[in-house]
Amino acid sequence: MDKIIALCKRRGFVYPGSEIYGGFGNSYTYGPYGAELKKNIKDLWWQTFVQNREDVVGIDADIILHPKTWEASGHVGGFNDQLVDCKNCQARFRADHLVEDALGQDCEGLPDEEVTKIIKDNNLKCTKCGKTDLSDVRKFSQMFSTQMAKTGAGATAYLRPETAQAMFLEYKNILDSMRVKLPFGIAQQGKAFRNEITPGNFIFRRLEFEQMEIEYFIREEQWKEVFEAWLGRMKDWCDTIGLKAEHVHELEHAQEKLSHYSKRTVDLEFDFPFGKKELYGLAYRTNFDLTQHQEHSGKKLEYFDDATGERFIPHVIEPTWGLDRTILAVLCEAYTEEKLEDGSERTVMKITSKLAPVKVAILPLMKKDGLSEKAHEIFKDLQSLGNCEFDKSGAIGKRYRRQDEIGTPVCVTVDYDTLEDDTVTIRDRDTMKQERIKISELKNLVRERYFA
Ligand code: ATP
Repeated sequence: MDKIIALCKRRGFVYPGSEIYGGFGNSYTYGPYGAELKKNIKDLWWQTFVQNREDVVGIDADIILHPKTWEASGHVGGFNDQLVDCKNCQARFRADHLVEDALGQDCEGLPDEEVTKIIKDNNLKCTKCGKTDLSDVRKFSQMFSTQMAKTGAGATAYLRPETAQAMFLEYKNILDSMRVKLPFGIAQQGKAFRNEITPGNFIFRRLEFEQMEIEYFIREEQWKEVFEAWLGRMKDWCDTIGLKAEHVHELEHAQEKLSHYSKRTVDLEFDFPFGKKELYGLAYRTNFDLTQHQEHSGKKLEYFDDATGERFIPHVIEPTWGLDRTILAVLCEAYTEEKLEDGSERTVMKITSKLAPVKVAILPLMKKDGLSEKAHEIFKDLQSLGNCEFDKSGAIGKRYRRQDEIGTPVCVTVDYDTLEDDTVTIRDRDTMKQERIKISELKNLVRERYFA
């Protein structure tokens, strides 16, 4: 992990946020290549699950929704972690993590008093200072609240802890404006905020992160088959973004551990360097959310089936993808150290071409003698393939190594022969093989070989 974090900073993928002030609350900034990678993932997801599907439409809602949303959804009062403080050094822990790490016991969902008893009976220590002076367990809301300038009942508002709820709020507008018929989905990408007690593992657990979610509305009797279908699509997605099947695992949640709204939940876990952890989730949310919003808003949220004349509240299957965890999984899967034939070593990010932050790097062998100008012409021409980079400074070997670490699938080198015969060298990131190609054939060849 340390090597990946160092590469991310060195090569402009992810910087520690607010670094000049000493960092702040596990915040991060996606640097130029991280921002490109993130955008490529979002675009590919939107294309796969919204544009290429006839049964899914997308929305883009506000982060701050009507506060009643979170009462209806059960988040106010219910979206809590169990917190325990060290009275000696003031460190704070999630009680379930403390117990799990010390005893290997899963105490998620147990009442506060029972978890307190487990901690006391087993004399559990603060993992920071080693003292056993731990507080009783108490609830800590994961929702960030904020005060609105306007007065009245709506004064306290929340930063959304998930993107899902807006899809339920807009379900009726979508029905009325989009001529959709069951089954159909509403998709959204965007920021979510959670006041995590123990953020960490780089960008894995953050206070501010992005989600990509779909609420897929169905008839109740369809749920098993639709659930399986979405599980399949989520695994296909993992394959598309280059995660190896042997690194992705299904975790079926035990019935007694399910969230209040769910009848079945399966997580897709990924083998991160710090362990097997949740990457994505798939939940059957029943008709809990729409029923709640109907009750709290007083607005009818039924679906009318004009073929059968039935009126009912649809059920929902929810596939959810964490964007930051996707980025981390892609980076971890791509990170490769190789020993070369000449005894030297290289680090290469084997990011799948579709997601690579730089598609093609164009490198003049020398800055002078018209090579730069020629290379720049090629760079302008290749830009229609996606984000290209023109780099003319430093030794060519060093420039290749830099592009390897960024994950650029192919480099194009312009040398003195180029000026004579209009050919260039292309170098493949993974095999490091070099080939001489006519400039007139370059764009098609690169497009077909790497981006088709
Ligand atoms: P965890 O058990 O790791 O806290 P969760 O089960 O609470 O996660 P969900 O509520 O199912 O997470 O959220 C959907 C997705 O959002 C997760 O699968 C994950 O990819 C992402 N996610 C959730 N919390 C965070 C966070 N604090 N930082 C980054 N991504 C997150």
